[in-house]
Amino acid sequence: MRIIVQKAKCQGHARCAAQAPDIFKLDDDGYILLGDIEVAEGEELPASRGVRSCPERALELTRCAL
Ligand code: SF4
Repeated sequence: MRIIVQKAKCQGHARCAAQAPDIFKLDDDGYILLGDIEVAEGEELPASRGVRSCPERALELTRCAL
């Protein structure tokens, strides 16, 4: 499972990191870091919660390896 990050859409709400700080890493200004996120096995639930929590739809879950 992978999370596609569209950093340009991020508005720095930090809601994703509030759900799963180990998965969604933010910079010093509270914006998501550049680059897609590989979700470790067993982390799927907090990952999907974080994705759904983003009000800007900057995060997208994909199950296929890219
Ligand atoms: S919740 Fe969305 S807008 Fe907020 S920091 Fe995370 S990716 Fe960015």
